[in-house]
Amino acid sequence: MITMRFNVLTIFPEMFSAFLKEGITGRAVKSGLLDVRVLNLRDYARGAHKTTDDRPYGGGNGMVMMPGPISRAMDSLERRAEKSLVILLSPQGERFNQKLAWELSSLNEIILICGRYEGVDERVRLLFVEKEISVGDYVLSGGELPAMIIMDAVCRLLPGALGGERSSLEDSFEGSLLEYPHYTRPRVFEGLEVPEILLSGDHASIRSWRRKEALRRTFERRPDLLEKADLGKDDLIFLEGLRAGGPGSLESFTAA
Ligand code: SAM
Repeated sequence: MITMRFNVLTIFPEMFSAFLKEGITGRAVKSGLLDVRVLNLRDYARGAHKTTDDRPYGGGNGMVMMPGPISRAMDSLERRAEKSLVILLSPQGERFNQKLAWELSSLNEIILICGRYEGVDERVRLLFVEKEISVGDYVLSGGELPAMIIMDAVCRLLPGALGGERSSLEDSFEGSLLEYPHYTRPRVFEGLEVPEILLSGDHASIRSWRRKEALRRTFERRPDLLEKADLGKDDLIFLEGLRAGGPGSLESFTAA
């Protein structure tokens, strides 16, 4: 079994405790698929107060994370020679998506530097950072949640992480489509029935219904994704129908 190692540099290591104990990431850690080391930057700070931040040169609001503690934490890591990447979480970075998650999942080791306050001293970026990643066009208080988002998305792609027959390949964004809707028991809830076709046991029809629902969802919510999607002849005919104002309700497909 190949282990993926994450080293996380943060001033709030406790934020990772529950994330690394519960759910799919918790199971991956227990099974040894994921090896996560959380380094508390205060352990690499100097002075009686173990300070990790200071005021910005040139004045202005807020504090900046000092380069010293981050540099010493980096030095303490025994990095693997190959397939290792140092990432700075930053709203100014490349936007994270499923394609990037796949790329990262092929690495052996990822180092995640979590900023706080106004961010990290620029020299951290110049000396250590190989890639900057943003989780979206909004500003969070720190890089810890973005680090967990990346670890979670990457962990799901590691062979064996999801267990059993479950595959991440059906998820939204795989094949550039959003996923079809899901139903479970009860069969009728608040007057709303599970589409008949899902109860039919006819696997080919169910597959076809799900494909159409995935196409419809993507068409309605994220039409931009269709441009990159891997579409067959039937898909194109179905989409043509939607564009022409074709069947819009779930029921119309149970009958299709
Ligand atoms: N002053 C910075 C700027 O305008 O670019 C924002 C600093 S933010 C308050 C503090 C830290 O949170 C950042 O250094 C980064 O590590 C993290 N962060 C905030 N938003 C993020 C995002 N969208 N993606 C990734 N990291 C983010």
